[in-house]
Amino acid sequence: MKQTTSFTCTVCGTAYRKWAGKCDACGGWNTIVEEAPLSTGPRSLGAKGRPIPLSDLATEEAPPVRASSGLEELDRVLGGGLVPASAILVGGDPGIGKSTLLLQAAASFARKGLKCIYISGEEASTQVRMRAQRLGLTDARVALGAETNLRDILTTLDAERPALAIIDSIQTMWLDSVEAAPGSVSQVRAAAHELVTFAKRRGVAIVLVGHVTKDGQIAGPRVVEHMVDTVLYFEGERGHQFRILRAVKNRFGPADEIGVFEMTGGGLAEVPNPSALFLANRDQPAPGSAVFAGIEGTRPVLTEIQALVAPSTLASPRRTVVGLDPGRVSTILAVLEARCGIPFAGLDVFLNVAGGLRVSEPAADLAVAGALLSAREDVAIPPDMVLFGEISLSGALRPVGQTENRLKEASKLGFSQATVPSHSKFEGAAGLTVRQMADLTAFVGEMFGAG
Ligand SMILES: [Zn+2]
Repeated sequence: MKQTTSFTCTVCGTAYRKWAGKCDACGGWNTIVEEAPLSTGPRSLGAKGRPIPLSDLATEEAPPVRASSGLEELDRVLGGGLVPASAILVGGDPGIGKSTLLLQAAASFARKGLKCIYISGEEASTQVRMRAQRLGLTDARVALGAETNLRDILTTLDAERPALAIIDSIQTMWLDSVEAAPGSVSQVRAAAHELVTFAKRRGVAIVLVGHVTKDGQIAGPRVVEHMVDTVLYFEGERGHQFRILRAVKNRFGPADEIGVFEMTGGGLAEVPNPSALFLANRDQPAPGSAVFAGIEGTRPVLTEIQALVAPSTLASPRRTVVGLDPGRVSTILAVLEARCGIPFAGLDVFLNVAGGLRVSEPAADLAVAGALLSAREDVAIPPDMVLFGEISLSGALRPVGQTENRLKEASKLGFSQATVPSHSKFEGAAGLTVRQMADLTAFVGEMFGAG
C-alpha cells in the first residue's frame, strides 16, 4: 500500500494535500506542517467480525449520574456536574490559569469523595504541590503524577481506576507508536484518541488541558475538539482579574453556558452574580456607554458596551472592536448610515465590552448602536436604562428571546427603564418602564432627537 504524507494546519486541524503558506480555513500563516499518516491498523480482509447487539428506539436510557464538585460555576458549565466516562477538553491561552482551575476542581471533587489523579506533563510534582499549598488544597486527596509517556500513564490509570483523571497538557503527551514529536498534530490526535477510548472503556472521566497556540509549532486544542464530549474554553484578559469558563460543545448539557471566576491571591473564586461584577466599576453617566441585558447560556448577564468616536486622520478610519463580532459592528454602522442617514465615514470607531467579556448574541445590536450614537452625538444614555434587540438590514428592530429574564435581571440590579423592540414577548415588566421601538429610526429620534 502506498503511504502518502498529508499536510495539516496545527491551529485548526484542516488537512491539505499540498503544503501552503497560509491556511484557507483559519487564515493562519505558516501553520501547515507535514504529517505522517495515522496507521489504519491491520487489514482484516477475509476475517469476519462478530455481530454487535442492537436495541430498539423504545429502550429507556437512564440519565447519567453526575458528580457535583461543589463549585457551582464549574458544575453549571459541565451541564450539572461531571458525567462518568466522559472526555472533557479545557482549552485556553498559556498562563490564563487553567492549571489553577483544574487543581482546584480536582480538590473539590476529591473532597466530595471522588478518586482523582492529576498528571502533569509540564511541571514536576513538587511544583504542583507548591501550587496546591498556595491555594490551600493540601487536605484534598488528589494523587499527583509527573509523566509524559502515555503508555505508562494509561497503565497507571488502569491499575488505579480513578473517577477523574486530569491530563495537563495534551500537547506534552507522547505515544511511542507514533513517529512524530510531542505537540505535533499526529501525536496530539493519537494521544487524545487513546485517552478518550480509555475513558469510554474504563468509565473514567478524563479532562484534557490544551494550550491555545498562535504559531504552527504546536498543535492547538481545536484539532481534538471533535473527539471529546465536552469542550470548555477558559478566557480572560491578562489585565483583568476575572476569568470565564465557556462551554462551546457539550453532549451532556447546554452549550454556551458560562462560569465566572475571579483570580485572587488564594486562587480562583466563584462569582455568583456576574452582572454586579461587570457593572461594578461603572463611571458617571458618560456619552458612549450603553448597558446591554444579555443572556449567557441559561442566565442573564448585564454588561456595559463602551464606544469612542473621534475624527480620523486616516484614509480608511480605524474600526477597533474588542469583545464583539467586528462583522456585526460593520453591519450596524452600515445600517445607521443607510437607514438613518448617520454616517461614520471619516471617524475612528473604538468599541469594547467592559470587563473583558465576549458578547456574541445578535441581541446586543441595539446596545451597540446606542453606544455608537451616544458617542457620536455626545449625548449620554440614561444610566438607569438597559437596551437589547436585534437590528435587521432594513433597520427594523427584531424581538429576541428571554425578554422577561433580561428585564428581571435589570430590575434586580436597580435599573428602572428598558428599551426593547416592538412585539417583544413578556408578561411582567418587573417594575421597569419599558419602551418598545419598531425600528432604528424611531430609536434615534427618541433617544437623540435626530434621524
Ligand atoms: Zn488553519
